[in-house]
Amino acid sequence: MTLTEKDSQYLWHPYTQHKTAQTPIAISRGEGALLWDENGKEYIDAIASWWVNPFGHSNKFIADAIYKQLTTLEHVLFGGFTHEPAIKVAEKLIEILPKNQQKIFFSDNGSTAVEVAIKVALQYFFNKNEKRTTIIAFENAFHGDTFAAMAASGISFYTQAFQGMFIDVVRIPVPVKGQEQVSFDTLKNVIQNHNCAGFIFEPLVQGAAGMVMYEPEALAKLIQICAANKVLTIADEVMTGFGKTGKTFAMDYVAEDPDMICLSKALTGGTIPMAITTFTQEVFDAFYDDDINKALFHGHTFTANPTGCAAALASIDLLQTQEMQDNIERINTSHLNFQKKIENHPKVITARTLGVIFAVEIKSDSEESYYGSMRNKLYNFFIEKGVVLRPVGNIVYILPPYIMTNEQLQKVYSIIEEAIDMV
Ligand SMILES: *Cc1c(COP(=O)(O)O)cnc(C)c1O
Repeated sequence: MTLTEKDSQYLWHPYTQHKTAQTPIAISRGEGALLWDENGKEYIDAIASWWVNPFGHSNKFIADAIYKQLTTLEHVLFGGFTHEPAIKVAEKLIEILPKNQQKIFFSDNGSTAVEVAIKVALQYFFNKNEKRTTIIAFENAFHGDTFAAMAASGISFYTQAFQGMFIDVVRIPVPVKGQEQVSFDTLKNVIQNHNCAGFIFEPLVQGAAGMVMYEPEALAKLIQICAANKVLTIADEVMTGFGKTGKTFAMDYVAEDPDMICLSKALTGGTIPMAITTFTQEVFDAFYDDDINKALFHGHTFTANPTGCAAALASIDLLQTQEMQDNIERINTSHLNFQKKIENHPKVITARTLGVIFAVEIKSDSEESYYGSMRNKLYNFFIEKGVVLRPVGNIVYILPPYIMTNEQLQKVYSIIEEAIDMV
């Protein structure tokens, strides 16, 4: 049996209807921005393998750090024990995160980072004997697939089977250009009419919605409204964190700081699953008490896995090199040039860029669904040409590893141009 035959016998893939899905591509090797399948066909990974991989596949610097940690202390339980790699990650993050972030809580993936933040927002008020049980979230948000994260997510076909089983979430419009005032007014209205504990948002860029972007000034205003009403704010930086928007965190563009931040994806350079939720001292203090019932009873077996911590430390070191900062700027400039070139194309509705993130919306005759026919046609065209891009409906986006060469980038652009002409 070939790998793909064995795959279809044994495996169940994410977001996949196995009856109608195409067979998956078996990847056997990766290096830099490139992947090779079992037949030796080469692909440019233009979405950094679901946004996790800024420094390239099989990165030697991170691999060496992981090996060293694996052969020193691979894992130890984090209940009642601690270790230097976790402490170093915390020290490093507190140095680079928005100034008010003072406490670091480890978990395993973006969804658990969000799950922890939402539970903390709810228990914060429980501990203070205040009845606040509603979470505010944006329309078309994506915060993950575990239950509270899913409740906060607003993309319907991910969640429709579970309607009626969720925690209480109320949605407000995203303050995209022209919608700012509606967004502010709706937030005020929601806060007046519900007992709101927290507001969770993807800062500046809604990834899964198709790289929908909005301005830092609008987000600052929403945070001010929450702060004035003692609603805790949660910045879900799982996608935007670690350089993707051109600054270390998207919140670095925003004048107001959030109460909590969720991190994962690029945290370990795309090597080992790990996530972190960070908090202000004030949030932590609401759990700090002689009463054990006020503690946060949440944890995962692999919390603060030392090997993951070593990978995170190596990744942050790489991010902070001048070379990587130059790469981010180079890709941003390149994206802006490409945007200028194609935004007036008759088949383009709009194009947008922030940091290394680029997105273009293509005109289509029918309302394009998330996994609609245009989307599949585009996806297959890109794969055939050896470029990994996963359009969201009629939106094609690029989120490359920062080490992608100019030549590789140009190839990605020209294949997108070809695709626009084709559809
Ligand atoms: C991917 C993502 C998540 C979920 O992360 P997982 O590791 O897939 O659970 C949460 N929030 C945002 C903004 C994401 O992009």
